[in-house]
Amino acid sequence: MELITILNRCHRFRGFVYQHAHFSADKKSIEVAVRPRKGSAAVCSRCHLPAPGYDQLAERRFEFIPLWGFLVFLLYTMRRVNCRRCGIVAVEEVPWGDGKSTLTKAYMLFLARWARRLSWKETAEAFRTSWDKVFDAVEHVVTFGLEHRVLGQIDAIGVDEIQYAKGHKYLTLVYQIDLDVTRLLWVGRERTIESFRGFFTVIGDELASKIVFVCSDMWEPYLKVIREKCSEALHILDRFHIVAKMNKALDEIRAGESRRIASEGGVPVLKKSRWLLLKREENLKTEQRFRLRDLLRYNLKTVRAYLLKEAFQQLWDYNSPAWAGKFLDDWCRQVMRSRIEPMKNIARSLRQHRELILNYFRAQKLLSSGVVEGLNNKAKVTTRKSYGFRTFRCLELALYHSLGKLPEPKSTHEFF
Ligand SMILES: [Zn+2]
Repeated sequence: MELITILNRCHRFRGFVYQHAHFSADKKSIEVAVRPRKGSAAVCSRCHLPAPGYDQLAERRFEFIPLWGFLVFLLYTMRRVNCRRCGIVAVEEVPWGDGKSTLTKAYMLFLARWARRLSWKETAEAFRTSWDKVFDAVEHVVTFGLEHRVLGQIDAIGVDEIQYAKGHKYLTLVYQIDLDVTRLLWVGRERTIESFRGFFTVIGDELASKIVFVCSDMWEPYLKVIREKCSEALHILDRFHIVAKMNKALDEIRAGESRRIASEGGVPVLKKSRWLLLKREENLKTEQRFRLRDLLRYNLKTVRAYLLKEAFQQLWDYNSPAWAGKFLDDWCRQVMRSRIEPMKNIARSLRQHRELILNYFRAQKLLSSGVVEGLNNKAKVTTRKSYGFRTFRCLELALYHSLGKLPEPKSTHEFF
């Protein structure tokens, strides 16, 4: 069986024929010559319709999916057309390429699929190509996906922030969190009012007005935009964000107290206690559980803060907003007497957002809980996996690619 037969089977295009395949001079790659079928007119790349020929350009190489350790290139001499409809001389459009990239569309889809499983760097290494080409491939597939995705009705959204560039910069992410569809809808720079408004510009007022639930954290710019754009929706402060905030406060208290003990030359009881205190008790190993119990005997600020945090967990067991509200008020009152400033700050902010927190209980049955947390974790993995993503653009593409559930360009064959 010849290579041309295989190509005709999996990557055939009307108007073009595979002429012959041969090795390159160094025998490292296979080159396949392609030419237009006799009598078939070139297609104008501007209006996508056939047009009379004008001249030919130099031969171009389009990289195809490698085969048995050989790189594969399609060689084709591009024609130019004199398009009367467009009133210009334009380069022809070829069905296997996108006009900009040196990669064939089939190879771009192939690389992009691998780049969802591996890091971009690993993908480049595995297929003996460059990081830049993997970038091009992902960009091609994501651009197609964003142009062709159907937004449809959106019932619930979650807005979230993640840090990148060693924690110096923020991104705003908006997820769709309907019961049957969860996906990343939008990525924006920074976490400002302007950036979050950008999402609503993309989906338009019509869709925005039909959103029923919005989940967010207590970040004031988000709250403001939600009041402005989704005034009819039930706004919910997400459980995950509240827990995360409390853990951050506890960690601060522990670090401060640990430093103080060290500077006073005391017994370093808080040493290596970080995860003991941040993890839920049921997730600790037996040995850790003993150490935690031991630690809780000390009269430390950290221990008191830990106990307050643990007591707070009971809130999420309530079904009725009224009882949850009563519990929340009691808890806040207790914290305000604790003289632990970071915890008092949390209590103040919970009091301030009391109604939004209770909305969690009003919507509990209607939202899949923990979904924002799950998406947030995936987004963090994507940003971590990609230490090569220094720019916003790379990160944006990688996030859409792994979490956007975008439609993919059609392929002539299922290459694997
Ligand atoms: Zn044209």
